[in-house]
Amino acid sequence: MTLKINRRRLLGTLAGTTAAGVLGVATAQEQILPTVSTSSNLSFETEILVCGGGPAGFAAATNAARLGRKTLILERYGRLGGMGIHARVWPLMGGVNSPFVKEVHDRIGGNGFDPERADLHYADFLQQAGATILLHAWVTEPILEGNRIVGVKAISKEGTITIRAKLIIDATGDADVAAVVGVPYDMGRESDGLVQPMSIMFAVEGVADNAQYCGSEEAARATKINATESWETVTVAAQKRGELPETVGVVRTYKMGRRGKACVNATQINCLFGTNIEDLTKAELECRRQAFQVVDFMKKHLPGYENIYVSHMPAVIGVRETRRIRGLEQLKREDLISGRKWDNAIVREARFSIDIHNPAGSGQAENQTTAEVQGTAAKVKPYDIPVTCVIPQKVDGLLVAGRCISGTHEAHSSYRVQNICMAIGAGVGTVAAVALNDNVAPVDVDVKKVQNILFT
Ligand SMILES: Cc1cc2nc3c(=O)[nH]c(=O)nc-3n(C[C@H](O)[C@H](O)[C@H](O)COP(=O)(O)OP(=O)(O)OC[C@H]3O[C@@H](n4cnc5c(N)ncnc54)[C@H](O)[C@@H]3O)c2cc1C
Repeated sequence: MTLKINRRRLLGTLAGTTAAGVLGVATAQEQILPTVSTSSNLSFETEILVCGGGPAGFAAATNAARLGRKTLILERYGRLGGMGIHARVWPLMGGVNSPFVKEVHDRIGGNGFDPERADLHYADFLQQAGATILLHAWVTEPILEGNRIVGVKAISKEGTITIRAKLIIDATGDADVAAVVGVPYDMGRESDGLVQPMSIMFAVEGVADNAQYCGSEEAARATKINATESWETVTVAAQKRGELPETVGVVRTYKMGRRGKACVNATQINCLFGTNIEDLTKAELECRRQAFQVVDFMKKHLPGYENIYVSHMPAVIGVRETRRIRGLEQLKREDLISGRKWDNAIVREARFSIDIHNPAGSGQAENQTTAEVQGTAAKVKPYDIPVTCVIPQKVDGLLVAGRCISGTHEAHSSYRVQNICMAIGAGVGTVAAVALNDNVAPVDVDVKKVQNILFT
């Protein structure tokens, strides 16, 4: 139960605090602190419930609502947009043949979107489609009937809230719902279970007009700093001297919309897990410290960056890889390298390299040869993602969207980028709505009907 505050009484008490001193302040605080309860009567009924408001979740909820189904989307933080907003992951990456993604790009300004505003565009999409948005609601447990999920409970400032739905889409990135409901999942690479590192991405301002930008390891190798040194050799030398953290072997910069502004992707911490609270705490603190070390390095060694300063730090650390559910089908590296096509595709022509940031050292793991020569991401051919990768094993009433769908560690490193996750979400929301419209389970949905909606 929430404590009701009498505003006039509160103001009166606050006004009296100066005279009443510390005792008065304590009285005022007692008045304004709500009673945190463990349960509330707040409950919602919907047809399609989407958990997680990242690129996959917002796309899923928008399409589900556009197809006429009552849709509610829950997000644990105060903004929509997932990693791109909370962790300042920028720009949007990945190619895909998706009219929905194109429509989003047209509205938000393409891959170089404005992270200060994009979340409101996502909210507009949802509200114009008729979906209900609930922010500050953290999904914690499922409501089960046999092996069917029929709702979830979420923690809020009002205590636990209950949401019941006919179909639930887990777009939490970490497969939080699937994991608590008992869907089998994998985490990390097959050899040792290690995941891609977490990172703090941040923005700097004060970059000179003539500065070079270097967005990948290949570019770092090719970019000359002076007659004898490349961006990469300067970085690796600083790493060896201890001027940069030992996990930072590449400093990627992306020119942001405004003059003199750049996004920096460099910090990383290995062998920690984004689903473990102590690991998350350590990663937050260490990577934020790394960020300032990286800035000091840039000011000293990268021409054009001498006068930079940190202008935006993210609200939370970026988590690249956690749980990958086991679905009816698993997407594999070979499917991507060969550009496999599926009759039951809900995503078509996805394109992004197999981009594994080294789980055990610095740089990118693929083709890692020596400390001096960092990795090269393996190229893929445009590939499809079938509906069977978003339908989990063992539990009914649940679909999964975004980076936690069913795929191997290597396949995940490609489809995890935001444009592809958005396309997955668009597909999953459509599958959910068509399933309800036709009164069938998602596994029995008419995929041709879904494709007609998605691709025409
Ligand atoms: C450091 C870093 C750099 C990257 N670089 C790029 C890049 O340059 N370009 C690119 O396109 N991609 C990049 N990526 C990948 C990309 O950002 C993510 O993989 C992508 O955002 C995944 O989308 P998603 O919707 O599946 O999950 P997310 O973006 O993680 O969104 C999940 C949402 O669910 C919410 N949520 C989680 N748990 C709960 C819960 N229990 N209850 C309620 N809500 C919950 C979260 O708050 C979040 O809003 C990068 C990732 C990282 C970490």
